[in-house]
Amino acid sequence: MDQQKAWKVREEVCETAKKMSNTGLTAGTWGNISGRIDEEYMVVTPSGMNYEKMTPDQMAIVNMETLEWVGPHKPSIEVPLHRKIYLSRPEIGGIVHTHSQAALTVACARKEIPAISEDQVQILGGSIRCSAYVKAGSQELADSVEKALEGRMGALMANHGAVALGRNVDEALTAAVLVEKTARIYLDVQAIGGAVRIPEEDCAYYHKFFLERYRRLDDDRAGKGGRK
Ligand code: 13P
Ligand code: ZN
Repeated sequence: MDQQKAWKVREEVCETAKKMSNTGLTAGTWGNISGRIDEEYMVVTPSGMNYEKMTPDQMAIVNMETLEWVGPHKPSIEVPLHRKIYLSRPEIGGIVHTHSQAALTVACARKEIPAISEDQVQILGGSIRCSAYVKAGSQELADSVEKALEGRMGALMANHGAVALGRNVDEALTAAVLVEKTARIYLDVQAIGGAVRIPEEDCAYYHKFFLERYRRLDDDRAGKGGRK
């Protein structure tokens, strides 16, 4: 394992966990965050720990094959969920699990949020499906959420919360904000007759645009490719 990378990911996960808590995406110690180090290892927030007091050295490093972990505290009970996603989605580098209010409202109704806003489809890839209701921390939950996430960067978890993915931890937090914002819009738009859906082919176009061509100017300047 690249130790420098491991430390950087621990810092990112810790910093993002604080942002998640400060932006009200979760209450108390609930929710959890992870970042990929490489094909074998991930960094996961400790279970039941106060976000305000969290420090990077308290983040757990988990071996995704053996589930052995190192760190001063036990990792999140949702290790199976984070592990399942990293193993099946090699492009994913960060995962944010929230209990945010509007997303949880829709998740309590066990409904799918259709593709309704452009930023939703760009970042999340289309509709936001809802996984089955199964026990928190279980392998069944991991399997069901992974299925709901097929071709998507966000999903609801029935009667529980939401999960959002990114190519890095920062992007995963943006996706978590988008899941919450879209759920809010979905609830609000019912008052004016319900939303009109974005066509499937447009969802595919916008998501591809976001993944492949929507880059920051810095990336362009650094020659990493950008708007074409
Ligand atoms: P942890 O504190 O163990 O991460 O659990 C919180 C949670 O949201 C479980 O789904
Ligand atoms: Zn949870």
